Amino acid sequence: MLDVMLSVPTQALIGGTWRDAESGRRFDVRDPATGHVVASVSDCGAAETRAAIAAADEALASWSAMPAAGRAAILRRWADLMIERVDELAPVLTRENGKPLTEARGEILYGASYLHWFSEEATRAYGDVIPAPASDKRIIVTKAPVGVCAAITPWNFPNAMLVRKAAAALAAGCTLVAKPAAETPLSALLAAATGLEAGLPPGVFNIVPGVDAAAIGGVLTSSEVVRKLSFTGSTEVGRKLLAQCAPTVKRVSMELGGNAPFIVFDDSDLDAAVDGLMASKFRNAGQTCVCANRVFVQNGVMAEFASRLAERVATLTVGHGDRSGTDIGPLISEAAFAKIERLVSDALAGGARVLTGGGKHPAGDLFYQPTVIDGITADMAVMREEIFGPVAPLAGFETEADVIALANATEYGLAAYVYTRDLGRAWRVGEALAYGMVGINEGVLSSAAAPFGGVKQSGFGREGSRYGLDDYLEIKYMLMGGLSA
Ligand code: ADP
Repeated sequence: MLDVMLSVPTQALIGGTWRDAESGRRFDVRDPATGHVVASVSDCGAAETRAAIAAADEALASWSAMPAAGRAAILRRWADLMIERVDELAPVLTRENGKPLTEARGEILYGASYLHWFSEEATRAYGDVIPAPASDKRIIVTKAPVGVCAAITPWNFPNAMLVRKAAAALAAGCTLVAKPAAETPLSALLAAATGLEAGLPPGVFNIVPGVDAAAIGGVLTSSEVVRKLSFTGSTEVGRKLLAQCAPTVKRVSMELGGNAPFIVFDDSDLDAAVDGLMASKFRNAGQTCVCANRVFVQNGVMAEFASRLAERVATLTVGHGDRSGTDIGPLISEAAFAKIERLVSDALAGGARVLTGGGKHPAGDLFYQPTVIDGITADMAVMREEIFGPVAPLAGFETEADVIALANATEYGLAAYVYTRDLGRAWRVGEALAYGMVGINEGVLSSAAAPFGGVKQSGFGREGSRYGLDDYLEIKYMLMGGLSA
């Protein structure tokens, strides 16, 4: 296992040049599996953020005026380069985030798929001609880029969360200033370096890494030049950023927390449901916003489902993401680890029972055993809070109406999953769930072709799909008059 410093870009990218922070300060990036420092990165703040916004503003006129096919060609090259370099990019992602190398590779390819997708959508930002109320007039609708945009992204998908925002923004003709999470800035900087190599003009894509998120975020949200913020992260920070964007009336997309129900009916294919839950719950050690958070199992199949699940979970291999065969890496931080311990002990105190796992794993300080607990009730903290760890809590239910009410009894509304072989039930429950995304007999929902996003306090706006471009486009209406002879 390597414990050397990684050779990757470690400075801010502003106006096409790599720059140190004006203060000269740097911050350490650590491997969560070992605690070792793997890189030291320029610690930027308000001054660099202002410079990056100015660079994005300067680049806007020519980037937005470039024919869409020209922007598309650069995005396509960017995607192709990321795919070509997957074996260089994935180990860096694993080193800073902890996820298994196979998942890191998957994330890079997933990020690249958004670049491919939006390279195609770039050329399809169609407008309209609408029948006018008078014969000497024409109503013309065109789509115009929003302008300079800002992106604030989390550590759990350090490549893909940033690249999927950049792909849509740049395809639309916007320019971007991005702030990656301080835990995982390296994958973002590498993605930016790959973009530069693919031909992104200076200033189109700028990155400002730094530990003072509030300072960087404060400049991004208060700027009159920045016309839109796209944020992926916690609901708590999302609320703050929304308020900060109000004075300048910015457009905002928020991809916030989730509390995904995973519903298994008596009539479901139990093997498929176990497979789906394994994929949905244990990817990235349970640290995704669409991870199954509350597993509702109909009482008739609870015993059978719980035992099949616990058997599968007990076979998961925990370890450093670099080791081949690893399924579960470390949690991202001590705070994340402490939260899991708190949620599990609260559930046990309330009468829940551990079927497998249930504590710290010997692989290292931040490793938690893949865990299944049953006997969960709605009042437990594990049902109300986002777990963000490899813990599957099982709660029984009696009827379809009961489980719909239970599933919707949360302020969140991102992803939900339903397993049933009854077609009518699949439609009824799918439509009744107050969620932005519903997987029916599927545990993995995300794809560049599909609209990713939530309702309620999980946010608004959609990423990916043909709807994703709209988040970066303004509708512009022109009335053409005086057409009579
Ligand atoms: P998580 O729980 O996934 O770390 P956060 O919402 O804390 O989610 O972080 C997501 C992103 O938001 C990160 O890039 C983080 O640095 C940034 N962030 C956190 N607090 C603020 C803030 N006050 N202003 C701007 N960005 C912030």
